[in-house]
Amino acid sequence: MRRQADAWRLFGCYALASAIPVVALGFALSRMYQAQMETRALDQAASEAAAIADAGIRPILGDRALSAGISAEQRPLLMATTEPLLESGTVLRLRLRDLSDVVVFDAADPTVQPYGSPDDEAAEAAAGETTRKVTRMNADEVDSASAVGVRAVEAYLPLHGSGPDGPVIGVLEIYLPYAPIAEAFTSSSHAMIALIAAGLTALWLALGAITYSVMRRLRRSAAQNEYLALHDALTGLPNRRLFHDRVRHAVAAAGRSGATVCVAVVDLNRFKAINDALGHHNGDRYLRHIGAVIGSVLRPGDTVARLAGNEFGVLLTSSPADALAVVDRFCDAFADDVDLDGIPVSSEASVGLACWPDDSTDVEQLLHCADLAMYAAKQTHSAVVRYSVELAPFSPARLALVSELRHAIDADELVLHYQPKLNLRTAEVTSVEALIRWQHPTRGLLAPIEFLEIAESTGLIDPLTDWVLRHAVEQIVTWRRSGIELAVAVNISARNLRNERLPDSIIELLQFHDLPTGSLEIELTETALLAEPERARAILQRLHDHGVRVSLDDFGQGYTSLAQLGTLPLTELKIDRAFVSDMLRNAKDHTIVTTLIDLAHNLDLHVTAEGAEQTDAVTELAGLGCDNAQGYALSAPLPAADLEQWLQTAKRYARSAGMTDAGR
Ligand code: C2E
Ligand code: MG
Ligand code: MG
Repeated sequence: MRRQADAWRLFGCYALASAIPVVALGFALSRMYQAQMETRALDQAASEAAAIADAGIRPILGDRALSAGISAEQRPLLMATTEPLLESGTVLRLRLRDLSDVVVFDAADPTVQPYGSPDDEAAEAAAGETTRKVTRMNADEVDSASAVGVRAVEAYLPLHGSGPDGPVIGVLEIYLPYAPIAEAFTSSSHAMIALIAAGLTALWLALGAITYSVMRRLRRSAAQNEYLALHDALTGLPNRRLFHDRVRHAVAAAGRSGATVCVAVVDLNRFKAINDALGHHNGDRYLRHIGAVIGSVLRPGDTVARLAGNEFGVLLTSSPADALAVVDRFCDAFADDVDLDGIPVSSEASVGLACWPDDSTDVEQLLHCADLAMYAAKQTHSAVVRYSVELAPFSPARLALVSELRHAIDADELVLHYQPKLNLRTAEVTSVEALIRWQHPTRGLLAPIEFLEIAESTGLIDPLTDWVLRHAVEQIVTWRRSGIELAVAVNISARNLRNERLPDSIIELLQFHDLPTGSLEIELTETALLAEPERARAILQRLHDHGVRVSLDDFGQGYTSLAQLGTLPLTELKIDRAFVSDMLRNAKDHTIVTTLIDLAHNLDLHVTAEGAEQTDAVTELAGLGCDNAQGYALSAPLPAADLEQWLQTAKRYARSAGMTDAGR
C-alpha cells in the first residue's frame, strides 16, 4: 500500500516536472507565432500606405519639392483625395512633411500653415527609408498634449519625384487603424495557438502514459527480483536470508514485549535415499510437501523457510514448551505416507531447537545454537534436541575464532606437523601422521584442540580438511622428489563424512599428482564412525576399494561393537594413547594393549600404538607384536624440515633401542 502511494507520488512529481518545459515550449511557440503575425500585419499596412501614396498623393505632388510648400492647385486636390479616406476611417491621420520635418499638409486640418514637428522616423524616411510600427494614436511626444488613442500602424514613406528612382521630395506620414488589419491574423493566430496547446497537451499526456507504463513494468520486475532474492525457487518458501531477517525482527519485537522466540533447524533424514530411488523430480515434490506440512502446523507470525538442500528453518514466536509441541506435531506428520508416483514415502527429521533469550541473546548465535542442537540430534539419533550449553562451550571469543579461522584457511596460516609411525618389525619409518596447527598472528601456534571443535560445528571443517589433504599430498610429492618415500595419514572428522564427494576428491587429488593410492592414509576416530555409521561405511568402502588405507583412530575410547569392527572396511587399528602411555606401570592397561593387539591381528588388521612416551614402552610394544608405534618416545609431531632431519637419526635410534632385533 505504501509502495503504491510512493509510486503515485513519484509519478505526480514526474507529471509536474515534465509539465514545466512543455508549458514553456508552448509559451515560446505562441510568442514566436504572434510576433510573426505582427510583422505580417505591419507589412500589409506598409503596402496599403504605399498604395495610397502611389495612387493618391504622388500624382498630385509631381516633382515639386515639398519644401516649396503645397501649391494652391495641389491643396484642393489633396483635400479631395484625403477627406474620404479620413471619413471612411481607412486612414486615421495623413500628413505631408518636407525634408526638414516641417508639416506642409495635414489632412485633418488642410488649411493649417506649415509647422515644425521634428520626428526621428520622418528623418529616416527623408533619407529614403520606409519605417513602420504598431503604436497608438497620439503616442508620440509631439502629440503628448492629446489623449492616447486607438492602436494604429504608423508608417513614414519617402515620396520620390519623377518616378520611384527620382529624388526624395518629401515624406508621407500616415496612420492606419490596426484593428481591421490584425483581425484577419488574430483569428488564424488563435487557431494556431489552440493547435499548439492541444498538440503539446497530447504530447505531455502520451509521455505521461508511456512513463506510467514503464514505471509499472519496472516496479513489477523490481518486486519480482526482490521476491526471487528472498525466496527459495523450488518451494516458494522464504530463503535463508529472509529467514534470518524475520528472526531478527521477531527478536527485536520480543525484546520490546518481553516474549520468547524459538528457532528450529530441521534436517530431513534419508532424503538422499528418496532422491536416489525416486528421482530428483520426486525429491523436489517431497521437499515441497515437507514445507507444506511444517507450514500447516504453524501459527500466524511463525515462518518456515528452506535453508539449504534438505534443511528447513522454522521461526516460532512462542515459549520453548509451545515451540516443542509444534515441532513434535510436524515431526509426527513427517511419518505420514505421501504418494510419490504410486509409492508411499515418509521420513524422519533431526531437529535442533534454540530459544531467545534463554540460549542466546544474539540472533546469529541463536541460529548457530539451533544448528548445533540439530547436529547433536543427528549424532544421538534423536528427533529433537533443545540446545544446552553442554552442546558446545560458548564464548564470544570462541565465536570470533570462527571468522578468524575462515580467514586463516584462505591466508595459509595453517601448518602441518608430521609425527612418524615406526614400523616395529622393520625399524623403519614408512609413514607419518599429519597433524594440523594454526600459526595464529597474535596467539602463536595453536593446537587442534583450540579450533577443531569450532571448525566442526560451523562447517569450516570441509575447507579445513580440503586444505590438509591438499598440503599433505603436496608434501608427499616434495619428499618423493628428494628420495623420501613416506605415506602420510590425514585425520578426517565426522562432519566430513556428510560430504559424499570426499572419496572421489581424494582419489582425484592423488591421480592429479600421479601418486599411488597407498601413499595416503585416512584416520577416522571411533566416535566419528559411530555418529554416522551408514554414511561412514559407504565412504570408507569406496576409499578401501580404491586402495586408500583407513585407520580406526583412538580405538578403545568409543563403543564399537566387535561384530561391527569385523565388517568395517579398515586396514588398521590405532590403540588409544590412554592405554599405551601408562602400560608399563598399569597392569590393566598392559592387558588391554596386549588384548587389542591380538584382536586387531585376529581381524586381519594392522595395529599401531599411539602415545608411546618412553623408549621402554616402544621396546615392550615391539615385544608384544605390535606393528607400529607412535609417540613422544620416538618424536613429537615436527615441521616437515625437522622431520627430515629426524629421519636421518631414526635408524640409529632404532638400532640402539634394539628394535630391529625385536622385529626379527
Ligand atoms: P590423533 O589423531 O589421535 O593424534 C594424536 C595426538 O596425540 C596428537 O595431538 C599428538 O600430538 C598427540 N601425541 C602424539 N604422541 C603423543 C604422546 O606420546 N603422548 C601424548 N600425550 N600425546 C601424543 P594433536 O596434534 O594435538 O592432535 C589432537 C587431535 O586433533 C588428533 O588426535 C586428531 O584427532 C585431531 N587432529 C589433528 N590434526 C587434524 C586434522 O588435520 N584434521 C582433523 N580432522 N583432525 C585433526
Ligand atoms: Mg590421528
Ligand atoms: Mg589418536
